[in-house]
Amino acid sequence: MTSKQLAYMTRDEVTKAIQEFPVAILPLGATEQHGHHLPLGVDSLLADHLSNKLSEKTNALVLPTLPFGYSWVWRDIPGTVSIEQHILEDIIKNVAHSVSRYGVKLLVLVSGHDSNKSSMKYATRELMDELDMPVIYLFYPNLEKILDEHCDSPTWHGMIHACEFETSLMLATNEHLVQMDKAVREYPEKSPLYGKSTLSLGSISKSGVYGDATLATRDKGRKMLEAFIEEMTDIINLAFRELVEGK
Ligand SMILES: [Zn+2]
Repeated sequence: MTSKQLAYMTRDEVTKAIQEFPVAILPLGATEQHGHHLPLGVDSLLADHLSNKLSEKTNALVLPTLPFGYSWVWRDIPGTVSIEQHILEDIIKNVAHSVSRYGVKLLVLVSGHDSNKSSMKYATRELMDELDMPVIYLFYPNLEKILDEHCDSPTWHGMIHACEFETSLMLATNEHLVQMDKAVREYPEKSPLYGKSTLSLGSISKSGVYGDATLATRDKGRKMLEAFIEEMTDIINLAFRELVEGK
């Protein structure tokens, strides 16, 4: 099965696809620094990849990937584009309202960027009162277990950024964009003020890497992607089943 990318389909093809399976996926990315070895579009490229694989598996429609997210912490680094949390929330809500008008019954948000999580959660809650279309939001489900099974280096306080994890996923999906000779290992000191002030990730790491990117391999990336796709497919099918059964 091939993925159903809405931007490359005609209105008639979209109508037919929704009749067959009324589920749409909105990939959410970011444009922000990912160290000296990865491109700025990592989160968008990975959200896009996962969403297309999910479309192949489930037959859901894939909307165009939103290339911007909330990237405040990296705002002074060249290339970064950040939009405000409430704007991201509004975009999600506007997309949901749009697709609900012509028969989509379930919207799935797939984010490749951690900091989009609050906007996804609050948009989903507000939409519950506005639309008769549930929304589910996914960000690497079961991440901790999958990291444990496939990665050799620890995360920096549970965070993933330009590390063994993201670099491996990029090697598996977009190897030509990874400059492994520039990959580094960095575990910056965590100040007690971190998370309690405006002291942010942007100012505490020198390289922009949090973790050990040097240990990344294509094979680890491939295995982790397979695991996520399986988890996410199950979640989408469960949400759709519950919708059909009227739960
Ligand atoms: Zn990232």
